[in-house]
Amino acid sequence: MTAYADARESVLRDDDRASLAVLLGERARFDEPVAPHTSWKVGGPADALLALETADELAAVLRLVQRRALPWLVLGSGSNVLVGDGGIRGIVVRLGGEFARIAVTREGTTVVVTAGASSSLPLVVTQAASAGADGIDALAGIPGSVGGALRMNAGTDRETGEFVRDVWVQTPTKPEPHPVTPQYFYRHTTLAQDAVVARATLAFPYAEPALVRQRTQARLVRRKQSQPLQYPNAGSCFRNPPGARAGALIEAAGAKGWREGGAEVSELHANFIVNRAQASAADIAGLLARIRRAVAETSGIELELEVHFVGVFV
Ligand SMILES: Cc1cc2nc3c(=O)[nH]c(=O)nc-3n(C[C@H](O)[C@H](O)[C@H](O)COP(=O)(O)OP(=O)(O)OC[C@H]3O[C@@H](n4cnc5c(N)ncnc54)[C@H](O)[C@@H]3O)c2cc1C
Repeated sequence: MTAYADARESVLRDDDRASLAVLLGERARFDEPVAPHTSWKVGGPADALLALETADELAAVLRLVQRRALPWLVLGSGSNVLVGDGGIRGIVVRLGGEFARIAVTREGTTVVVTAGASSSLPLVVTQAASAGADGIDALAGIPGSVGGALRMNAGTDRETGEFVRDVWVQTPTKPEPHPVTPQYFYRHTTLAQDAVVARATLAFPYAEPALVRQRTQARLVRRKQSQPLQYPNAGSCFRNPPGARAGALIEAAGAKGWREGGAEVSELHANFIVNRAQASAADIAGLLARIRRAVAETSGIELELEVHFVGVFV
């Protein structure tokens, strides 16, 4: 996906807007706020926000961005992104329709889950747990889409990539769906930057469904107790550095409860920043910078962001 220009002006020409409107009708929205599509509920307008329902529509948009060299990105459920207050220049793609399909089957002692990129990870977890997918509990309570989980290699003590059997993507240079074999690391993968995950198949050993559901439920209960889920947030903001927990380092730096505008470092979980009152992206970015400085001063460790910054920060 292309790096974003720092421009405030739309990079779309009238003919780009016209061809998107012809292709997608009402599902192409222009100068559309992105905030409602993020879990933090912050971020300015995108030049174009496209709701795509088929692989053919995605292929057509990828051809357009390639031909016109337009900046673009794919947004999943927006639970791991900070969108700048200046919005996003270029095209933001959101998937739905056929990308939301989930199928769970049994192959002998293996539970196989095929899920489109926009399908909800929590829904996949519920369905897979009911089918006895052993290990799926590790993904319980992680919001977002399957595409986002693949891109981020989302997880806890076990990660999405461990369960992947195959992944299909579409790219500007190869817009038809095709399989790839990325490698998975802690919160990142070798998936090409310009690859849009279209769907994935996950495989799990079979276990007694009642047991898997019970483990899944226990994880959800633990999250409710330890995470400030009543306020808009994006989960953990920083990655855990090797051998340490970012939350503990932030707490030791005395940052719990710090505020910038409407953003606050959670009292419950120091690696979460919550949107307490119409926070701006600048509030959250300011708080993240303050935390990094404080942790570097108190522990000598430079924290790395887990959340992805996108768009124009003003
Ligand atoms: C309350 C809470 C708890 C959380 N707990 C965890 C946790 O325990 N573990 C964990 O790992 N994360 C956790 N997260 C973070 C987040 O939920 C995950 O990173 C999630 O996988 C992001 O999915 P998404 O669909 O929201 O992606 P987005 O936030 O929309 O996007 C994230 C990145 O993925 C890219 N992307 C999205 N869809 C696609 C696609 N189809 N193809 C290619 N790239 C794509 C985007 O361009 C962006 O760069 C938590 C977040 C919240 C709010």
